[in-house]
Amino acid sequence: MQNQVTLIEHPLIQHKLTLMRKAETSTTKFRSLVKEISLLLAYEVTRDLPLKYEPIKTPLAPMNAPILAPDKKLVLVSVMRAGQGILDGMLELIPSARVGHIGLYRDPKTLIPVEYYFKVPHDVDKRDMIVVDPMLATGNSAVAAVERLKSTNPLSIRFICLLAAPEGIQHFCAVHPDVPMYTAAIDDHLDEHGYIIPGLGDAGDRLFGTK
Ligand code: URA
Repeated sequence: MQNQVTLIEHPLIQHKLTLMRKAETSTTKFRSLVKEISLLLAYEVTRDLPLKYEPIKTPLAPMNAPILAPDKKLVLVSVMRAGQGILDGMLELIPSARVGHIGLYRDPKTLIPVEYYFKVPHDVDKRDMIVVDPMLATGNSAVAAVERLKSTNPLSIRFICLLAAPEGIQHFCAVHPDVPMYTAAIDDHLDEHGYIIPGLGDAGDRLFGTK
């Protein structure tokens, strides 16, 4: 099966992403930009949510009006810690979604992900899953996270990031060809430390002000 890689080129997203990339952008501003972009990403990734129709009355007339089908349940999973920024934005648009967390850090020498936290809702097998992680660099963390999450049997999985390196996309698609991916940009390459170039630096540090 071939992955569906969706590049979300909406001008508002591209503008906000450029502001995030700038080295001089403050932590406060970076954080609010992640949130704003996440709202727009959530809009895009939920485009095909099913609707049902119910009879309502407006002040002027009855009508059959669309609402989200109540049996369609979502779980958002944040790949810690940088996924938290996207999660916060998405939850504003989808407040009824349940939330899971997976904690992975990259071993700085091997760049291999090491799991240190895992918690998802008990009924994850009845939910569609959206996994959020801002930077798809080597793809090691995303691949490991999705592998672990697949073992919980969600109805479906989608992966969302802000920036992706071609190497990461290739790796992710090779291991998880069944998982559609959404990104706001595909950058040039990875540097020798596994950072995306030109990228935006370390997303976690920029989000939390830890550097
Ligand atoms: N993680 C980040 O935060 N930034 C990168 O460029 C790569 C991985």
